[in-house]
Amino acid sequence: MFIVLMGPPGCGKGTQSAKLIELLGVAHLSTGDILRQMAQVDTPLGRRVAECLDQGTLVSDELIVDLVAERIKQPDCRPGCLLDGVPRNVPQAQSLDELLATSKTAVDAVVEMQVDEEELFSRLMRRAETEGRSDDNSETVRHRMAVYRRETAPILDHYRQQQKLRSIDASGTPEEVFERIEAVLVGLN
Ligand code: ADP
Repeated sequence: MFIVLMGPPGCGKGTQSAKLIELLGVAHLSTGDILRQMAQVDTPLGRRVAECLDQGTLVSDELIVDLVAERIKQPDCRPGCLLDGVPRNVPQAQSLDELLATSKTAVDAVVEMQVDEEELFSRLMRRAETEGRSDDNSETVRHRMAVYRRETAPILDHYRQQQKLRSIDASGTPEEVFERIEAVLVGLN
């Protein structure tokens, strides 16, 4: 089973992913986590990735497609994956469809977490104080939001056309949000 969890920066994807992989019994594929690990390594590639993260710009689609292809071959992905942070633009969504088709599988459902932008911004500013992620400063956050609107939001149509899109209201407590996600995934596992 392949589920995509989508939503703007700060919508709570990380928190919900952790709960969802338990519920669904699938592996977690977070491109943000993989890239943050890569950025720790002092090589030309590591430095390029670190620069993208700090600026809130997207790394190349080619790198992402390679990362995903490698990751879904791992044994823990055999029951499926929760895709968190990918796809992030229409070309990545198309590549993912092709990649999964080669193993005769496909995305089962896409959950879109919807939260008002000002609410997101204040959540991220709070997270900056507690977690210290290098890309949680006001300038990068605004940029990541603009990238989401411009590059990532168009994917919603891609999946709407495939009748896989399930949008939920992601305001409220993590428990309330999780219940809404559970409700739209009923019947999938
Ligand atoms: P958030 O959704 O809070 O911005 P992520 O952890 O998903 O956080 O991503 C952090 C950064 O990693 C992004 O701003 C981008 O630079 C990079 N990134 C993550 N996933 C992708 C992707 N699929 N394609 C390109 N860049 C990505």
